[in-house]
Amino acid sequence: MNFKNISLIPLILLAVHISAQEINKFEQLGSLLPTPNETRSASGAPGHAYWQNRADYIMDIHLDDHKQYISGKETVTYHNQSPDALDYLWLQLDQNNQFPGSDSYSTSTGKLGDQITPGSLARYDHNLDRGFNIVKLTSTSGTDLSYTINKTMMRVDLPQPIAPGASYSFKVEWNYNINDRLKEGGRSGYEYFPADSNYLYAIAQFYPRMCVYDDIYGWQNKQFLGAGEFTLPFGEYDVHITVPADHAIAATGILQNPKDVLTSDQQDRLAKAHNSYTQPVMIITPEEALAKESKRATEEKTWYFKASNVRDFAWASSRKFIWDAMAVKQTSSPDVMAMSMYPKEGNPLWQQYSTKVVAHTLKWYSHYTFDYPYPVAWSIHTDRIGMEYPMICFNGGRPAADGTYTKGTKYGMIGVIIHEVGHNYFPMIVNSDERQWTWMDEGLNTFLEYLTEQQWERDYPSGRGAPYKIVDYMKADQKLLEPIMSNSENIQQLGSNAYAKTATALNILRETVMGRDLFDKAFKEYALRWKFKHPSPADFFRTMEDASAVDLDWFWRGWFFSTEPCDIQLADIKWQRADMPQDSSLLTSDEKFLGNNPQGLTSVRNREMIKQTQDEIDTTLKDQFSNVDARKTAKDNFESYEKNLSDEEKAVIAKGKNYYTLTFKNKGGLVMPIIIKFVYEDGTEQVQRIPAEIWRHDNSEVSKVFITDKVIKQFILDPYLETADIDRSNNYYPAQQQMTRFELFQQQNQGRGRNQGPPGRS
Ligand SMILES: [Zn+2]
Repeated sequence: MNFKNISLIPLILLAVHISAQEINKFEQLGSLLPTPNETRSASGAPGHAYWQNRADYIMDIHLDDHKQYISGKETVTYHNQSPDALDYLWLQLDQNNQFPGSDSYSTSTGKLGDQITPGSLARYDHNLDRGFNIVKLTSTSGTDLSYTINKTMMRVDLPQPIAPGASYSFKVEWNYNINDRLKEGGRSGYEYFPADSNYLYAIAQFYPRMCVYDDIYGWQNKQFLGAGEFTLPFGEYDVHITVPADHAIAATGILQNPKDVLTSDQQDRLAKAHNSYTQPVMIITPEEALAKESKRATEEKTWYFKASNVRDFAWASSRKFIWDAMAVKQTSSPDVMAMSMYPKEGNPLWQQYSTKVVAHTLKWYSHYTFDYPYPVAWSIHTDRIGMEYPMICFNGGRPAADGTYTKGTKYGMIGVIIHEVGHNYFPMIVNSDERQWTWMDEGLNTFLEYLTEQQWERDYPSGRGAPYKIVDYMKADQKLLEPIMSNSENIQQLGSNAYAKTATALNILRETVMGRDLFDKAFKEYALRWKFKHPSPADFFRTMEDASAVDLDWFWRGWFFSTEPCDIQLADIKWQRADMPQDSSLLTSDEKFLGNNPQGLTSVRNREMIKQTQDEIDTTLKDQFSNVDARKTAKDNFESYEKNLSDEEKAVIAKGKNYYTLTFKNKGGLVMPIIIKFVYEDGTEQVQRIPAEIWRHDNSEVSKVFITDKVIKQFILDPYLETADIDRSNNYYPAQQQMTRFELFQQQNQGRGRNQGPPGRS
């Protein structure tokens, strides 16, 4: 940075334009978003003709603890509220992706390393009897219905079309062998405890479930390959589950027959828990659970649950379960019961934290969205998992056998509980299409998880959310990256893309682009508009703008539709002060040129050839500029310049302010706000925050003048790590050596990407 005086000379405006071939990054999204219509409005709200279908289920389930086998009968009532007559229905048979020949197995890729555990080998060499057996599919009067199974989807042909506004009921009988989740994988299944020969069942995606028929895709019957989760309609559930009499069940919904399945002590404790707002109350104590482990009930008991306005139903069952519960107050809705079930293997962590984390999650997610609308929220412990269903989720986080645990286990457990309980809001209530867009639930949920973790403990070690955590992912080879707007099943690094990048983008939007107030209002508006409905990406993008008056098309384009990273370079600094102009600087360039050069041929010839010019014939044409020597012009100019300087202009010169022209280059491609810190000679600091729109005329290079009283000794771009800038070495003047680290990995840490969550987390 060299100091130079600047002369005050007339202003010349320069405009740099984006080359014609390249789309300006500030253009509106246009055709990248679907055209608004009567079901989805241009504001991002549901349109005046918005509709969605419903599916109600009455189910009778039996669990065989000897054979790890489950069977069920269900009556489905499908309500067609679409404007279309439906000739057939599609149901999802998710258990079929556990089937040895499923596309999940046949299209999975990978290479075997030199060391492999027998457990993980089961995923390659898999020929177990898995997947649904559909025993019977009939009308309610018992007439067989014709159906076709295509892998994880089943089409049921109807005797006559279901007219708009009409409903149709049918019955399905089914069964399947439950998978060993820890060996075979999957989002549900059993965990076996060899020490006491007991099983813990986490049961989900266990019944043929209706697909969604909507205004976007018609039937969402894209096959389940294992990554893209579920797209499900809301409905009412009425479910009887029969299990060994010594099992305890946690499930979506409210237990209807506590007198039949709980002891009178347990019923009393549950009543007490309804009035306990700070500490959980034990419903089944560790001692009671332990006493059951060595016995086997020969009787069975039937637990009866009802759930209203939910998109799915899941449950867990084991004789090993300890159960605790506490009540959670809400702003303007009934209390919720926060509850946990866990085997003794989860302690001491689970008893100390799980239910309180559930309560904390409800408090903060409700703060950012809406009151939790369901009566219960369960957290169930089973090893190495994180998986969500309405009102219930299955979470890992297991101490060592001697009860000790690492920091990673503790915070991993708290984080996964916040995350999975948080999924009640996205996608269980704000019911986005998970089969198509992982980011709409995982990204929004990971963002709220981050905010909720930070409310739990100061500087909670959140794995995702802070901008610097996404840098490694975003600076990878562009060929290896997909935009966030990619289908769930196609994304290579789902954790870094749909979870972490989305959460980081929203965090940046809140902190750096919109500000917390505007962002929080708009985000809540989206949650309220789409609560108990099916939003699409455009509904989110549009609502965030509609509710805030912030044009975010550039932000969605950069963060959601592209893979470009942020790398802004502080490319040049010019330091100037205002001064009186030098004589020569008041000459025009023509005058300067002619003063320093011989006369041109035309002039020489004209002097000879033109005997008399018009102003020599008519001398009244002359004024002070006629035939005046260039040097005289400069002197006159200067005198008149000095005479004409206003007091204000003279003051500028007298003050000796510093003018810094900073030039920034956008090397990464992603347009982002410019945040720059000045450190003055006297040690004081100032931060300038410039919105991303500074790049709107030139997406790749901009210059801007900053005027300061004091001399700046240091410039720092992105001083608070807000923009996920992938190369900080070009963010400093004077240049600062960037410290980098090499990492000494321990053997057991290899193979786990830094941005990936705990194994199996969804
Ligand atoms: Zn998730």
